[in-house]
Amino acid sequence: MIEIRELYKYYGERRALGPVSAEIGQGEIVGLLGENGAGKTTALRILACDLLPSSGSVQVDGIDVVERPDAVRERIGYLPDVPPLYGDMTVGEYLAFAAKLRSVPSKDVARRVAAVEELTALTERHGDPIATLSHGFQQRVGIAQAIIHEPKLVVLDEPISGLDPRQIVEMRQLVRDLRGKHTVLVSSHILTEISETCDRILVIRNGEIVAAGTEAELTKEFSGATQIRVTVRVPGSVEKEAKEKAQAILAAVSGVDAVEGTEAEAPELVSFDVKAATEVRPALVSSLVSAGLDVFEVSRKANELESVFLKLAGGDGGSTKKGGDA
Ligand code: ATP
Repeated sequence: MIEIRELYKYYGERRALGPVSAEIGQGEIVGLLGENGAGKTTALRILACDLLPSSGSVQVDGIDVVERPDAVRERIGYLPDVPPLYGDMTVGEYLAFAAKLRSVPSKDVARRVAAVEELTALTERHGDPIATLSHGFQQRVGIAQAIIHEPKLVVLDEPISGLDPRQIVEMRQLVRDLRGKHTVLVSSHILTEISETCDRILVIRNGEIVAAGTEAELTKEFSGATQIRVTVRVPGSVEKEAKEKAQAILAAVSGVDAVEGTEAEAPELVSFDVKAATEVRPALVSSLVSAGLDVFEVSRKANELESVFLKLAGGDGGSTKKGGDA
């Protein structure tokens, strides 16, 4: 769907991007992860034909962004970092306007507006002026305008930026809902905000892709092992024995390197930190359940993910595949 070859972008003498080569397949949801100034917006603007590359090539659906930008724009929906909204238009008016700009046939405009309003949970806001909407709802209008013409590729620049925790959860769901109909490229500077939504993550630093893979692959590759928190419910009367039993069961699972008991967070709950080099979560759960233990929670530790990202994006620790210093 997207083929990027040896792409560079200079602003004057300054290299903002490059060399970047990457491929994104049809239907994938891919996250572009990098700190502020890493080059995310520059890369997305080039893809959206909003900025010309200095050299290299980018093809969307086999079409070159420099040679045939109009044909590429038909295939792309783009949410820029600052969505192009008009506060005095109502949601419905604005989306109809966006549809006409994207050459949606007049007879289809009302149907498309209703469809994207439904997908982005804006139906009840159809008649509200955009200026009266919360930031989260305005972001949804930004996504709605990006998909109004049913593009094959949707490019979202930091859609989660500035949202509160509940809006973040809703926005993640909205991005997931694009799956199936669209290929999606979404940027963020916070790993945990996109790791749950994306099939694959490209990490960008100083204008270069320094790592690519699933969240589990990146964590494993750059931290050596995955750390998993397992919490089991045990009756208070047999807590000590149950804890020992659970620890022994976890340690016996193939792929587990270490198991450490941690402070209980609530009565009748015991927690363990499990280190493993491979994906062991399903095996941990089935072993505990087969032994009659009540599994309360199994989760990958988020602080570890953040430290992996900081290593990758910030370059501390020298763990990246290649350097990217300007
Ligand atoms: P952010 O999350 O802060 O938007 P980003 O990863 O999207 O960061 P870009 O906006 O692509 O990063 O910027 C990459 C680099 O290019 C930065 O060093 C930035 O200062 C520089 N840059 C971006 N736009 C311009 C411009 N129009 N003129 C000069 N330099 C620019």
